[in-house]
Amino acid sequence: MTHDDILKAAGLTQDDLHGGTLAVHSPIDGAEVARIRETDAAEMPAVIARAQGAFRAWRQVPAPRRGELIRLLGEELRAAKAELGALVTLEAGKITSEGLGEVQEMIDICDFAVGLSRQLYGLTIASERPGHRMMETWHPMGPCAVITAFNFPVAVWSWNAALALVCGDPVIWKPSEKTPLTAMATMKIMERAMKRFGDAPDGLCQLVIGGPAVGEALVNSKDVPIVSATGSTRMGGIVGPKVAARWGRPILELGGNNAMIVAPSADLDMAVRAIVFSAVGTAGQRCTTLRRLIAHNSVRDDLVARLIKAYGSLPVGDPRKATTLVGPLIDHASRDRMQAALEKAKAEGGKVHGGRTVTSGVPQGGAYVEPAIAEMPAQTDTVRTETFAPILYVLGYETLEEAIALQNDVPQGLSSCIFTLNMREAETFLSAVGSDCGIANVNIGPSGAEIGGAFGGEKETGGGRESGSDAWKGYMRRQTNTVNYGATLPLAQGVKFDF
Ligand code: NAD
Repeated sequence: MTHDDILKAAGLTQDDLHGGTLAVHSPIDGAEVARIRETDAAEMPAVIARAQGAFRAWRQVPAPRRGELIRLLGEELRAAKAELGALVTLEAGKITSEGLGEVQEMIDICDFAVGLSRQLYGLTIASERPGHRMMETWHPMGPCAVITAFNFPVAVWSWNAALALVCGDPVIWKPSEKTPLTAMATMKIMERAMKRFGDAPDGLCQLVIGGPAVGEALVNSKDVPIVSATGSTRMGGIVGPKVAARWGRPILELGGNNAMIVAPSADLDMAVRAIVFSAVGTAGQRCTTLRRLIAHNSVRDDLVARLIKAYGSLPVGDPRKATTLVGPLIDHASRDRMQAALEKAKAEGGKVHGGRTVTSGVPQGGAYVEPAIAEMPAQTDTVRTETFAPILYVLGYETLEEAIALQNDVPQGLSSCIFTLNMREAETFLSAVGSDCGIANVNIGPSGAEIGGAFGGEKETGGGRESGSDAWKGYMRRQTNTVNYGATLPLAQGVKFDF
């Protein structure tokens, strides 16, 4: 299929694609595929006012009825999976199966949110006073801004939007300026769901297009109580304090620097499979990509040899081809950052395998690279920095204590894992003295989370949680209610106030 066929199949019209100022390029070949209209900063107050108007109506709609909208969205996504997945491949460069997987993740979170819409449970709490009852009630918060990164151009919106909408919050989405087309196509799918739903209020689900300035209008508005922002730690460092300064609620999902510890007892065959998928999948451009391999000194050389062999057989190329496993980086600047990191790693004493630019057998114009392995003498500055590309740094260790200390000694705290068949080691890794990350796994890699669990991380990863478990609480306000059904007015803590 040509680029134009893919855009058309995803429902984008010539009007959508032309006449604007924001150029959109496909990472497959660098071709400009659209020049779309950006939202003017002057339009933002009206966008936010529409969301506030929608909130006044939507918060009164019973939550299970709100869930019906998400059920319909799930149905529409199922019907459009192939077309939207292909557009993810075109615009973000993901291989076909990962493009489809991203849409499947949207469907999964819809299913989760539909069930949630009949739950949103509060507690009942024992009161210390006779004739009293205490409980917790969860209420909608208001408009939720969703600022997303290029590497999960549609799934991250759905993690937020499916929950926010069943929780009673309108959503304003600002996608990455590198991937606005997948967002526009997703909005068309959402519009179909809203049409079938019937009476969704105007402004319930909006899309704004542009770069940081458009995002900042949402970040700075007191009328947007929740700002869920996914992207670099640099962006979160700007957005988080601004939202906090106006007493809004930030949900920050920022960079990761994820590690795997491979212990002496590990099943190395399984470890190799997990390492290759999590270090190389999505061309190393997942927030949960494996970036640091901390291998016991007794298995390190064997493991590195197996990895070098496996890396040598990885097909790099056009992400639309069924056999390709490593697609392009998002752009040439990203490839330059990868090359600079590898040069720095060498200067720090690292031994680098692979990492060269690939120009033959790949579409011209894209930024294709061989994934790299860098054996490092220590956890240097370069290793402690997230470079958003397929570089796997390898470190050795002697004791588990040392391995856990290395794993935790980075600014980020997203995902982590250990490969071991030793129960003491596995449980220690998951315990209070183990991994300090939001995600810690045993005998599976750090990437490819399911939607059922809460997703997010600590330290410079931002502390936010999205997706499953009770992450929905981040989109609602908690109210503690005490009801006195007695005929006296006893005070808590035995306080007397007689007059
Ligand atoms: P980025 O920080 O460049 O951009 C992310 C989004 O933030 C974009 O929509 C951008 O326009 C917006 N933005 C940037 N500055 C802003 C500002 N001052 N105010 C408001 N909005 C602003 O990130 P990217 O290059 O698109 O994505 C890669 C990064 O995202 C990596 O660091 C990756 O680890 C991270 N990421 C994290 C998660 C997670 O869940 N933790 C998921 C995906 C990606």
